[in-house]
Amino acid sequence: MNDGLVRWLWRDYLRRHLPLLFVAFILMALEGGMLGLLSWIIKPMFDQVFVAGDRGAIIWVALGVFGIFMVRALAGFGNRVLMSAVGQKVSAALQSDLLRHMLRLDSAFFQENAPGVLIERVRGDTMAVSTVWHTVLGALGRDVVALLSLFAVALSIDWVWTLIAVAAAPVLMGPMVILQRWVRNNARHGREVAANLATRLDESFHGIDTIKLNAIEDYETKRFDTALARYVRALIRTEASHAGIPAIMDVVAAVGFLGVLSYGGLQIIEGDKTVGEFMSFFTAMALVFEPLRRIGNVAGTWQAAMASLERLYAVFLEQPSITDPKTPLPPPAEPGKADVVLNAVTFAYDDAPVLRETSFVAEAGKTTALVGASGAGKSTVFRILTRLADPQEGTASVGGIGICDMSLSGLRDMFAVVTQDAQMFDESIRQNVVLTQDAERLAEALDAAHVSDFLPQLAEGADTRAGPRGSSLSGGQRQRVAIARAVLRDAPILLLDEATSALDAQSEALVQDALDRLAQGRTTIVIAHRLATIRRADKIVVMDRGRVVEEGTHEALIKKDGYYAQLYALQFDE
Ligand code: ADP
Repeated sequence: MNDGLVRWLWRDYLRRHLPLLFVAFILMALEGGMLGLLSWIIKPMFDQVFVAGDRGAIIWVALGVFGIFMVRALAGFGNRVLMSAVGQKVSAALQSDLLRHMLRLDSAFFQENAPGVLIERVRGDTMAVSTVWHTVLGALGRDVVALLSLFAVALSIDWVWTLIAVAAAPVLMGPMVILQRWVRNNARHGREVAANLATRLDESFHGIDTIKLNAIEDYETKRFDTALARYVRALIRTEASHAGIPAIMDVVAAVGFLGVLSYGGLQIIEGDKTVGEFMSFFTAMALVFEPLRRIGNVAGTWQAAMASLERLYAVFLEQPSITDPKTPLPPPAEPGKADVVLNAVTFAYDDAPVLRETSFVAEAGKTTALVGASGAGKSTVFRILTRLADPQEGTASVGGIGICDMSLSGLRDMFAVVTQDAQMFDESIRQNVVLTQDAERLAEALDAAHVSDFLPQLAEGADTRAGPRGSSLSGGQRQRVAIARAVLRDAPILLLDEATSALDAQSEALVQDALDRLAQGRTTIVIAHRLATIRRADKIVVMDRGRVVEEGTHEALIKKDGYYAQLYALQFDE
């Protein structure tokens, strides 16, 4: 699994930066190699300058040390800038691809995964991957070369000393592996808790009015605190497991020094080795443990990044089930003159059936009203027709062409949908109406939807921002903006969810007038709550718990004195 993930990251994101990475690696190798040179130059410093007293050697040794640090400074600066540039680009590409992929997934995916979780996935997990990978690559490029050069110096002085110094390392490999697994588990848990935290925040801010009205500020804060405490615990545990790795390295170092000093100290006292050799060796070994510790750390950091990478990859593995057919049929040539047909559609969320063999025909150019108690499945009919959800059984078609036989864009182009919870984006009203459509007939659409009526009251007219989720507009205004969007869309088939009671009488009249104008000459299916709409509808389809129980005109259904007559008496007979 790991190999596959790394290969994926490399192939799709890192490979294209190969030239930059190459330069960065050379600079890193230079930076790392300077450590070896530094430990090497210690020997002449002691043996020739300090012990032998060679005054002439002072200057070249000093210049040597100076040069080593200058090269290290420049190479270090260069590789860090390059690596973080590549890191940011990789992170941006990952985020962009992830969003593009997610937006293609079924609506059901978004019902299963809270927005906070997904935001954390796009932001947090991609960050975790990209900040870590350049530490990892950096450590590998820089520290491996440093390690090699330092060991070369150490070995050139005495291979027995070198062996003694690292003797304890293999013994500690076992605990290291266990620790790494622990780091990964903790990191994975930490990412889950972070997502949970984001969900809490997201829900708090979205539900701010509910929170205030129910005076549950303290309750919400407490819930956040609980999640926060879990997050802190997870972070501390991750950090603790991280910290264990350098601790193990220190134990290796301690044992190594103990051995070398006991064995090598005697050799120097007896004159078998020079002080310069010992100091050089000592420097090399002292310097070895830092990169070694970092490489040890890399394993832990890498494990943590893997936890994020796994989660990202899992999203990429999700595939939409609602997709274009292999060879899409063209949509009907004149969709405005095509009947919309639902044929024995059965649909369930999980096991709860919502539509049961629902069938009806909405005739071209006419208005069909869907009527039924709340929860009867009326909105679900809209979701099926526009393929936000696919039915388990049955079919739907427009002009005889199955909705699943057309391309998704071809199908959705035929529909304009205006629902009660009109979705707004935090952009100007103009942008909210136009979206990606042609703005040529904007003024006309604003007039037809009675948006022009309230624009003068707003500070910046059509350029006024709608606020997050349209919060700076009233319910009626939001709806009219949504209607303007539908007018501009000029789609042949209209799906309307009539407002129930959210609007005052005046806005309702305006919204209604706008809807009536919009419906003219189009095939309209309306979830009807108003008597006037029902009376005027060419056909009423009465739904009860997912079934179509009656069909006909208002008069015919009243005369029949069945379920509709009952509903009508309850809801509409004022
Ligand atoms: P209506 O528009 O007639 O009020 P809906 O089509 O909105 O009814 O809903 C029909 C039924 O489907 C309801 O009982 C509702 O609880 C259920 N339902 C709607 N959305 C979901 C969902 N995402 N998951 C599970 N059940 C759902």
